[in-house]
Amino acid sequence: MNDILNTSEADSLHRFMFEHAPIRGELVHLDTSWRSVIERHDYPETLRNMMGELSAAAVLFAATLKLKGSLVLQIMGKGAIKLLVVECKRDMQLRATAKWSGDLAQGSFAELVGDGQFAITLDPKDGGQPYQGIVGLEGSSVAEILQNYMSHSEQLETRLWLVADGQYAAGMLLQKMPDSANHDTDHTADEPDDTWQRASILADTLKPDELFSLSAQGLLKRLYHEDDIRLFDAQTVTFHCSCSRDNVAMMLKMLGHEEVESILQERDSIEVFCEFCNQRYEFDKVDTSMMFIDSVILPPSESRH
Ligand SMILES: [Zn+2]
Repeated sequence: MNDILNTSEADSLHRFMFEHAPIRGELVHLDTSWRSVIERHDYPETLRNMMGELSAAAVLFAATLKLKGSLVLQIMGKGAIKLLVVECKRDMQLRATAKWSGDLAQGSFAELVGDGQFAITLDPKDGGQPYQGIVGLEGSSVAEILQNYMSHSEQLETRLWLVADGQYAAGMLLQKMPDSANHDTDHTADEPDDTWQRASILADTLKPDELFSLSAQGLLKRLYHEDDIRLFDAQTVTFHCSCSRDNVAMMLKMLGHEEVESILQERDSIEVFCEFCNQRYEFDKVDTSMMFIDSVILPPSESRH
């Protein structure tokens, strides 16, 4: 395989593991999927790059969890950046959006997000209870916030390297596996901790350009040519938004008949834009009256059998 990224690796997630140390890793490269996220809104550059880093991280985390439902990572800021949210679903379907106010040209990461919070939500999407962890923001980059969350809240030592621009978002994850019992460490000179340290230090030498342009094979050869690394087949990452007219109609129904009527007294129709993909949904008076007639005849509880 070539050292330089080819098109088949453009929107992909690769898992790898060290054969002789309890360390697993992942590499993600977002190309078309990332541009599909950002072409729908006009995000300021700083925010766009943070979103790209969070998007790469969401794919990396989703892969470590062997995700069945949906994983949502959120940074809720108290500065000019109000919200960054990325959702990654099983089958590596990604969407992301952000809220901000004012000019983001000036200011460090800490100033832009302020004294905010980080939240991770895992929704099994099978009727089971979602899991949510919320912590204060600790760190001066997206990668640091996530690393701190993983080591403090999940007790999983994790290192992340994330980069993003207007074309690509890419990242690498290293994680010390919690259970090394199944691992054969007999024939290695290094203690697992030494290998962990060395693997992290070597990855610190990665340049953004290398994360953007090297193939998984090429990057691992560049960093760990002395180690025995097992590289697994790639998974494809795609942009996908799950919004639908039915979901928006459901949301309007939840607002209630009176509220919807009062909005329609001032205008001809209700316009709703999906925050993720910017898809426009329009409901006029006929649509909404049908919506509420329908709910009288067939309430949701009776329509299920
Ligand atoms: Zn959408």
